[in-house]
Amino acid sequence: MARWFESGTLSVMTLVPAATTAFAASVLRSRLAAAAVEAERRGLDALLITPSPDFAYLLGYRPPALERLTCLVVPASGVPRLVLPRLEAPLAAHQLGELADEVEVIAWDEVDDPFQLVHALIETDAARVGVQDQMWARFVLRLRAVLDPVELVAAGPAMAAMRRVKGPDEIERLRAAGAAADQAMLEITRERLSGRTEAEVSRRVLELLLEAGHDTAEFAIVASGPNAASPHHEAGGRVIEAGDAIVLDIGGTLAGYWSDTTRTAFVGEPPADFVALHEVLREAQEAACAAVGPGVAAAEVDRAARSIIEEAGYGERFIHRTGHGVGLELHEEPYVVAGNAEPLEPGHAFSVEPGIYLPGRWGARIEDIVVCTPDGGERLNGTDRRLHIVE
Ligand code: ZN
Ligand code: ZN
Ligand code: ZN
Repeated sequence: MARWFESGTLSVMTLVPAATTAFAASVLRSRLAAAAVEAERRGLDALLITPSPDFAYLLGYRPPALERLTCLVVPASGVPRLVLPRLEAPLAAHQLGELADEVEVIAWDEVDDPFQLVHALIETDAARVGVQDQMWARFVLRLRAVLDPVELVAAGPAMAAMRRVKGPDEIERLRAAGAAADQAMLEITRERLSGRTEAEVSRRVLELLLEAGHDTAEFAIVASGPNAASPHHEAGGRVIEAGDAIVLDIGGTLAGYWSDTTRTAFVGEPPADFVALHEVLREAQEAACAAVGPGVAAAEVDRAARSIIEEAGYGERFIHRTGHGVGLELHEEPYVVAGNAEPLEPGHAFSVEPGIYLPGRWGARIEDIVVCTPDGGERLNGTDRRLHIVE
């Protein structure tokens, strides 16, 4: 069997399910209840959640993050309340739907101080509240002043405890996003890439991501020739030419959930040493995917890939962790990295993306999103993982 394949000869069936947009009110209701339990468990009197992926997770929509404070207050016990500028009340009413019965909306007028409103919602004997990890510093500083002496800590661990285990409707969205990214990958590796700049190919990938069904096209790393040795290379003016390795790392969002997949291509006949390097990588990626299962430490998945790359003598050239969780954010828990003893659970979704980078020369990476199921890992990306030979 050939160790690589000619693009254009392979046809991958990709099916993009119709994107379901809203989560059922019952799903959001149970997330709000779980957030209160997580707060209680961590000794937090409340969680303060500004517009962010955490906000979208709990309320099913994502209002604009602006200078006027919007803040969901989830107390450890009691009714969740949503403090927002009055002009956004209609948006909230529309988006909350049935959930509006259970989340009390408190609209503030332009002359009001929304921080005092939040203060009034925190129990007088509160000792500690969690603030959303990406809350703007200007809000955190105002809250700290107004809530003093209440201690402010990161809400991240409480939120991540919920968000890192995906429910069936979330996996369905990740699956649809993965299929759309596969479609875009398949199409770009069938095009002639030589003679075009990285930036041109990158813009083309963004178009293909949208055509394949993404709501947003977020990134298209096109790293050619020596640039392929830079894992997060910014596509630029370099013209792709024969003899280049090209790392294509692409993704976007579909119904709020991210895709993220990488394949490596080569322009023209690849030299034997690059074929060998890519084959090591492919085995490493395969071994890491095969290692996924409930109860397996995330670090063991990293080790499965890294040990193969080390044995082949490229250990020093694999300069990043094996993967990151994915969901409402591109990078979230669980992280597939040495030292993370956290056991994988069904519902964890993360990338498996080992890479080998030879500075000044070339690089390669292979990335799939993998979901941990009761029976092992299930990959949400299915395009050919062999080296793609392109023109
Ligand atoms: Zn990355
Ligand atoms: Zn990626
Ligand atoms: Zn990734």
